[in-house]
Amino acid sequence: MTEDFLDTAGIHTLAIRAGINRTAEGEHSEAIFATSSYVFNSAEEAAARFAGNEPGNVYSRYTNPTVNTFQERIAAMEGGEAAVATASGMAAILSTCMALLKAGDHVVCSRSVFGTTTVLFSKYLQKFGVKVSTVSLTALNEWQAAITPDTQLMFCETPSNPLCHVADIAGLAAIAKANNCLFAVDNCFCTPALQKPLSLGADIVIHSATKYLDGQGRCLGGAVVGSQQLMDEVLGFIRTCGPSMSPFNAWVFSKGLETLGLRMKVHSSNAQALAEYLNTHAKVETTYYAGLPGHPGHALAAKQQSAFGGVLSFEVKGDQAACWRFINATQLMSLTANLGDAKTTIVHPATTTHGRLSDEDKAAAGIKANLIRIAVGLEDIEDLLADLERGFAAI
Ligand SMILES: *Cc1c(COP(=O)(O)O)cnc(C)c1O
Repeated sequence: MTEDFLDTAGIHTLAIRAGINRTAEGEHSEAIFATSSYVFNSAEEAAARFAGNEPGNVYSRYTNPTVNTFQERIAAMEGGEAAVATASGMAAILSTCMALLKAGDHVVCSRSVFGTTTVLFSKYLQKFGVKVSTVSLTALNEWQAAITPDTQLMFCETPSNPLCHVADIAGLAAIAKANNCLFAVDNCFCTPALQKPLSLGADIVIHSATKYLDGQGRCLGGAVVGSQQLMDEVLGFIRTCGPSMSPFNAWVFSKGLETLGLRMKVHSSNAQALAEYLNTHAKVETTYYAGLPGHPGHALAAKQQSAFGGVLSFEVKGDQAACWRFINATQLMSLTANLGDAKTTIVHPATTTHGRLSDEDKAAAGIKANLIRIAVGLEDIEDLLADLERGFAAI
């Protein structure tokens, strides 16, 4: 069957139709190829496949039809030439760095990235001679000033967690181009359903598929998307070092992508409703959500995203003990640091996700003791609002 319609298809069609590799059985839902290796028809074919002179599967550390379906689908949705699937989001970031950086190279990274990403850069990559500077996500002049002749990579995550600061992706891409370095965006919070960094000039998109791409908190996985040339390098690292995605997880993520657009709409509309409610609540000091017109990232997010996403945070009028009482009084929301799930989650960043930061670093990052983060799920909005009321009654 020819699939010419994919060339002009919209993102929701691509989410459902891209990457299908139907077998002779005619299965409608994608098959899971639970196999580590593949049988060759002849010694000649085996030699050609191993040498890379003939396309086809060799070994599932780096070629698997189910993983391939996920790779083609996420690449199509992000508008990239190719994608490489990885065992986790952290494996996606590590593989990108190991494939594209060498000792002596320099990375400029936004200060507000996922905590484990900071540790990867500061503890492990530095150990191998990669230098890292951290800058404010939103201050383009800091990025420009941090660039050195050794800078190979600019890395950011937008919107930021948990304060929803928004990076100017096109502005950062222009700085990267002018300085001849690569620009990677961790697109975990928006997903391609809301934001497509490659179309704004980024070179690489990184995902923790563990979050919204799955959407129901079942599997760990990641992906890197970009040009064929860059992805060949990343796949070379996966082939050699092995942080590969399992076929079962790839199948879950491919099925997750089919409903991603619908889910992101409801995550966003539920979050908008909660943010508006919190923003005028007598017991709330400040609400952080880019969908609120008063948020500093509002105009930029409205320009480069199609909706504002599912994560928000707010400071209660009170101290850490009040926050803990609030969280302990909620019944519906799950107390967990995970996000991107149909189930709404609630967490106290200062003592969990950002608990490893020094008091000084917490202050610099704006993580106050009275801050609560909610990753808004897909439940009925009335039930979510009622749960917040239980929290407020306790402080
Ligand atoms: C969770 C997360 C990661 C790491 O992904 P894992 O799948 O947990 O390894 C990276 N970036 C962001 C923004 C995340 O939220």
